[in-house]
Amino acid sequence: MKVFNTLTRRKEEFVPLEPGKVKMYVCGPTVYNFIHIGNARPMIVFDTVRRYFEYKGYDVNYVSNFTDVDDKIIKKAIEEGVSAQEISQRYIAECKKDMEGMNVKPATKHPLATEEICGMVEMIADLIEKGYAYEKNGTVYFRTRRFKDYGKLSHKNLDDLRSGGRSLLVTGEDEKEDPLDFVLWKPKKEGEPAWESPWCEGRPGWHIECSVMSKKYLGEQIDIHAGGEDLVFPHHENEIAQSEAANGKEFARYWMHNAFLNIDNRKMSKSLGNFRTVREISEQYDLQVLRFFMLSAHYRSPLNFSADLMEASANGLERIVNAVDNLKHLMGAAQTEAMNEAENATFTQTEEFVKEFEAAMDDDFNTADAIAAIFDLVKFANTTASAESSKEYLKKLFDLIVKLGDVLGLILDKEEELLDADIEKLIEERQAARKAKDFARADAIRDELLAKGIILKDTREGVQWKKA
Ligand code: AMP
Ligand code: ZN
Repeated sequence: MKVFNTLTRRKEEFVPLEPGKVKMYVCGPTVYNFIHIGNARPMIVFDTVRRYFEYKGYDVNYVSNFTDVDDKIIKKAIEEGVSAQEISQRYIAECKKDMEGMNVKPATKHPLATEEICGMVEMIADLIEKGYAYEKNGTVYFRTRRFKDYGKLSHKNLDDLRSGGRSLLVTGEDEKEDPLDFVLWKPKKEGEPAWESPWCEGRPGWHIECSVMSKKYLGEQIDIHAGGEDLVFPHHENEIAQSEAANGKEFARYWMHNAFLNIDNRKMSKSLGNFRTVREISEQYDLQVLRFFMLSAHYRSPLNFSADLMEASANGLERIVNAVDNLKHLMGAAQTEAMNEAENATFTQTEEFVKEFEAAMDDDFNTADAIAAIFDLVKFANTTASAESSKEYLKKLFDLIVKLGDVLGLILDKEEELLDADIEKLIEERQAARKAKDFARADAIRDELLAKGIILKDTREGVQWKKA
């Protein structure tokens, strides 16, 4: 299995730190508003990465934080006249609703920055003790030049950074030893949330959060650290500096970054007014369509959001859903149960599509090609399944499409209403059970139907049923 590693700028064979296990950390959103469709891209992409590892039999420990202390949250709280906590809790709840709509699995753990301040104070103190950080008037800075590998992720050279960083000196941060140094802890300003620390009452810088939460929930070394490409520098570069300086070992083996989502071929931003939230999209489309759209491109390619591409995605997804529904329908009406020899032989041909699917996903999670493999399988199912097929053959095709779809997080086997034929069949079974005085079985069937919203009424003309 090959993974493109930003650190080496190459596709590398994935070798886990511990056999059969993947430890993965994905930088989560800052929660001051509904998430936008750009934020949705890493959520969907890395959820799919997780699902594929699980499909391959790995046990995945997936940690993704919520940044719930930040200038933007504080600003919003002041605007609304409420606490910062009220803002972050509201938008964490809304974000979780969107994630559910996009079928993004909850992480093994979703830590909140504000609940991990103690660990951050400890790591900062440790960095000071090791000479990697220093305090000036209550602010603690990381001594960037002390960390020899600084720049290894973003492939930046310290001297280029230095000339680019000159403007920092002008902005009043001249108490730093070096313009390249970045903040680990800062003093509180009036009205801001703050915590006690050995340096001053204040709050942590953004980068230290992820170093601490990753260490606490996954350990000092992890397999994969991921996020959008804008996080490579400075966020992830700084995380590496903090974690490796504090722990004395390599932080993450593989660094994965998704490319950006643009909108109508332009950068999505508040100032351009072309900002779309996931919630807005959900009013127009099933979020499964958004998920399908995100996976229709490789995660390292820029992706453009447009009405046309969403329509194309809706059509593509429908093709798969229709095939699955058709198989379900045929299964309900199938005349024979077991597969015959010929069907057996036909079914073995599907191995080709599974190989095609896995080869695509093994090649740095090429979901676009994986979708193409599912389309090939769907075409095969449409041409080989018929009213003459056995139930077993149809079920095997059905299960396979649903299984591959599930790796991409597509919900294809919706809990559907029972087909009329299935209901009639169960009623007949119930009548037979009653005749045989097997009332327990008869009642069980009635309850099963009731659970699915079907109400039975025993009349003189026989059993009637209606939907609740
Ligand atoms: P933020 O809340 O800005 O920290 O972003 C949360 C996650 O969304 C990060 O991994 C960002 O890199 C990612 N992200 C933000 N905007 C976009 C975008 N337009 N396209 C893709 N990823 C994005
Ligand atoms: Zn982070």
